[in-house]
Amino acid sequence: MARKLSGKVVLATHNSGKLKEMRELLAPYGVEVVSAGELGLPEPEENGTTFEANAKIKAEAAAQASNLPAFADDSGLAVEVLNGAPGIYSARWAGSSKNFAQAMRLVEEKLHEAKATAAQRKAAFISALCVAWPDGETITFEGRVDGTLVWPPRGTSGFGYDPMFLPDGKTKTFGEMTAEEKHGLPPHGEGLSHRARAFLKLAEACLG
Ligand code: IMP
Repeated sequence: MARKLSGKVVLATHNSGKLKEMRELLAPYGVEVVSAGELGLPEPEENGTTFEANAKIKAEAAAQASNLPAFADDSGLAVEVLNGAPGIYSARWAGSSKNFAQAMRLVEEKLHEAKATAAQRKAAFISALCVAWPDGETITFEGRVDGTLVWPPRGTSGFGYDPMFLPDGKTKTFGEMTAEEKHGLPPHGEGLSHRARAFLKLAEACLG
């Protein structure tokens, strides 16, 4: 049985969009959440080659520095016809100014260069969620959601590549959904976003 989480936990992210979503996901579980930014923790170098490796690097660094259990998510958009790009480089495609309008344009340009047909605009959001304890124990959960990339982008909610991503079986992009719709959590759904799906696995194992 997985180790349970209680008391105070650190959210090891400096990404405000993810921080907001992780706080929303954790809200019902009564754990006290503090962010790596609030604690002034440094950002470790993400030099892993997988989402899982990078999530572990971030969670372990925060758990060691704070002496508290820490959560980290590493996530991104994997486009089928681009062999999984931008993948672990999803944040970097937006450049140092974090310009996601530009990053979405870059994805669209690459789809154009690859001569992707409508049926070849398949993509998935993937999230690896790691919990690390100060004594070195870690556990990781992965979630994914499949969908299609639309152009032009639609909606202004969410963050990152949300306005371009139409999840399978839905008529709204993540950018057009409320946070509740994007997470799709029980009792109304079974988890829709990659982060919510990874989180539900984590919650079942380590929370409540
Ligand atoms: P990370 O901080 O290195 O994990 O970067 C993940 C990047 O993937 C983010 O900056 C976003 O660009 C993108 N991403 C991850 N999750 C989402 C999501 O739920 N919606 C939109 N973009 C996302």
